[in-house]
Amino acid sequence: MRIVLVGPPGAGKGTQAAFLAKNLSIPHISTGDLFRANISQGTELGKQAKAFMDAGNLVPDEVTIGMAQDRMAQPDAENGFLLDGFPRNVSQAEALDEALKADGQKLDAVLDLEVPEDEVVKRIAGRRICRNDSSHVFHVSYSKPKQEGVCDVCGGELYQRGDDKEETVRKRLDVYHRETEPIIDHYKAQGLVVTISALGKVDEVTKRAMDALKGDK
Ligand code: AMP
Repeated sequence: MRIVLVGPPGAGKGTQAAFLAKNLSIPHISTGDLFRANISQGTELGKQAKAFMDAGNLVPDEVTIGMAQDRMAQPDAENGFLLDGFPRNVSQAEALDEALKADGQKLDAVLDLEVPEDEVVKRIAGRRICRNDSSHVFHVSYSKPKQEGVCDVCGGELYQRGDDKEETVRKRLDVYHRETEPIIDHYKAQGLVVTISALGKVDEVTKRAMDALKGDK
């Protein structure tokens, strides 16, 4: 299956993407994770992306689209993938449509995670992520690790993403409404969008998502 996951920052895209990709045996491709990996490795691409990310802005399409397409061209993504955080504006969506068409492929579904705005800010401001694996996600009140600052899964250090500070979160939400939400209409016109609520326990949301995707096959 070829799936795009959309939803505001804090909807739980990264967490859900990790479970869904595992259940569906397809790679989880997160452009945010790819940028963060480039930043920690000190690559040229990471240097280009960092200032935009720190400010809560989108990284320019010239950088992003090529990086996403390189990742999708890897052998593990031949039979499907779950895209998390890409596309994030209509021109990226159009570039993805064209690239898939050129390969005789198409998307199967666009899963839209809905969550109220005040909940989003609470979720993100308390979010702590493992330095070793960004799918190991905790929260200072909703999902506390056993030992403060330490990942339950692998013992890695937990940290707050620089762009998870409240002011940047509000900026990212603005960017989401302005740039990313229009892709939902773009994909509605193709009959691809399934919308589910992202409220509730992580495993409940995963089940909801799996049921919605099955209904869509
Ligand atoms: P995420 O981990 O998906 O929340 O992404 C973190 C940040 O990386 C975003 O706020 C953007 O600055 C940047 N980013 C991730 N994906 C994209 C994309 N498809 N287009 C532009 N910028 C992106």
